[in-house]
Amino acid sequence: MGASVPAAAIVAIGDELLLGDTIDTNSAWLGRRLADLGVPVCRGWTIPDAKADIAAAVVRAAALAEVVLVTGGLGPTPDDRTREALADLTGAALRVDRDLLAGLEDRFRSRGYELLPERNVSQAQVLEGARILPNSLGTAPGQAVEVEGSLVILLPGVPGELVRLVEEQVVPLLSQRFAGRLRPLHHRRIHTTGVPESVLAEMVESALPQDMGPVALAYLPGLGGVELRLTARGVDNAEAARWLDSIEEALEPAVREYRYYSDRRDLADALGSALVAASRTLAVAESCTGGLIAKRLTDLPGASKYFVGGLVAYDDRIKTDVLGVSREDIEAHGVVSEDVAAAMARGVAQTMGADAGLGVTGIAGPGGGSDQKPVGTVCFAAYFDGRCEVRRERFKGDRTGIRERAAQATMALLLRMLEAG
Ligand code: ATP
Ligand code: MG
Repeated sequence: MGASVPAAAIVAIGDELLLGDTIDTNSAWLGRRLADLGVPVCRGWTIPDAKADIAAAVVRAAALAEVVLVTGGLGPTPDDRTREALADLTGAALRVDRDLLAGLEDRFRSRGYELLPERNVSQAQVLEGARILPNSLGTAPGQAVEVEGSLVILLPGVPGELVRLVEEQVVPLLSQRFAGRLRPLHHRRIHTTGVPESVLAEMVESALPQDMGPVALAYLPGLGGVELRLTARGVDNAEAARWLDSIEEALEPAVREYRYYSDRRDLADALGSALVAASRTLAVAESCTGGLIAKRLTDLPGASKYFVGGLVAYDDRIKTDVLGVSREDIEAHGVVSEDVAAAMARGVAQTMGADAGLGVTGIAGPGGGSDQKPVGTVCFAAYFDGRCEVRRERFKGDRTGIRERAAQATMALLLRMLEAG
């Protein structure tokens, strides 16, 4: 296969994955980790705990990819059949490894069991000729065997064990095996918020250069906005950086108004950084978002540098008595109104002694909408430096979606004010 980029395939084993009891986070994690390493995953299978299925999937995977990662079924229970399936497939004998057995016995003794349960002996079984990959967190080691020219690696199903074993054993193994052929994917992420995907796409498509070289563009919409992901494949670091820089520069005018910067891919992080940079503090008053904004800000370490506090002002009485929203405003414009949102933002900043305040009030649904104010109507305001900006939006989605979008848009409003200085 010469200097081509090696590919990996994944076989995820477990009835629980097919029944939907367990979400296959192992495959997702492996997909990201292997792309970073430069051995991208080209195919994956999810299969039941059955020997014939395991063997068949491994054969198919080995025909497609130079590395096959098998997760699950290495435990001590009768539904753990991976070792036996590989023994049947390769004709290699299963033998008990003395060192592994001694390790297992020690482990059980340290937990207060004098004797190793008979069924755990299977976890010391190794395929003849396999390379053993020690599992520093669990009982069953990984094993690597050759199947029809491909390297098949058996990994535990427990996510924490899998991650540790891949980092400690598999990454070094693959780095060595594919030395000189690894081409990690290079990503550049552009985070946007406040613009619908189709509108963004139109602007982006007209700004993109004709020749994208090794770079592909993906639109990844979420509740917080659309992420543009530029991915360079099959090139070295320097060439990837050149291409990504030039395409990002070409896109800049199309995305400038909507873009925010965060290594954590989180607008709350961008807002926090902007507040720290400006040495300003923030307080929030939330009705329909019920504390989401405060939660997202305080999820981040270091939030105490700028976040003063928040109030969930759900009942009208809290808006009037605690935040100083006027009863007349509520009667004249309704509680979901620009006036009330603005008064909440100003009121919470003043009450809590912060430089900036956010206020958000809306109808998250599913009930409570009207012709004038349908479900999804949200009014939100940002108060900063004696100025108040306020918006009314009609967000789409279910209750969760509307609340998430409202929280994001409210934070974005203040971020733009801070950027404008
Ligand atoms: P054990 O020694 O614990 O039996 P194992 O290698 O046999 O490990 P499984 O029995 O298949 O692995 O799964 C052990 C645990 O890991 C289960 O709780 C299972 O839900 C979880 N698990 C298995 N496969 C996956 C996966 N692909 N993604 C996320 N979790 C998984
Ligand atoms: Mg098991």
